[in-house]
Amino acid sequence: MECSYCSKPIKQGTGIMYVFRTGAIKYYCSGRCYKNSIVIKRKINKKLVAHRSKTKAV
Ligand SMILES: [Zn+2]
Repeated sequence: MECSYCSKPIKQGTGIMYVFRTGAIKYYCSGRCYKNSIVIKRKINKKLVAHRSKTKAV
């Protein structure tokens, strides 16, 4: 397995496994990588939603 954020190899039994609602599974070597990946994605999603709503209003 490799960390989905920093792509470092993860030893079995360590790291974090995150399952998305879509069924996709991501592995993270540490809580820092997990937080970085999830938080950044949330910020990107918020930006996309805000941008879309603006274009709709126009
Ligand atoms: Zn990592």
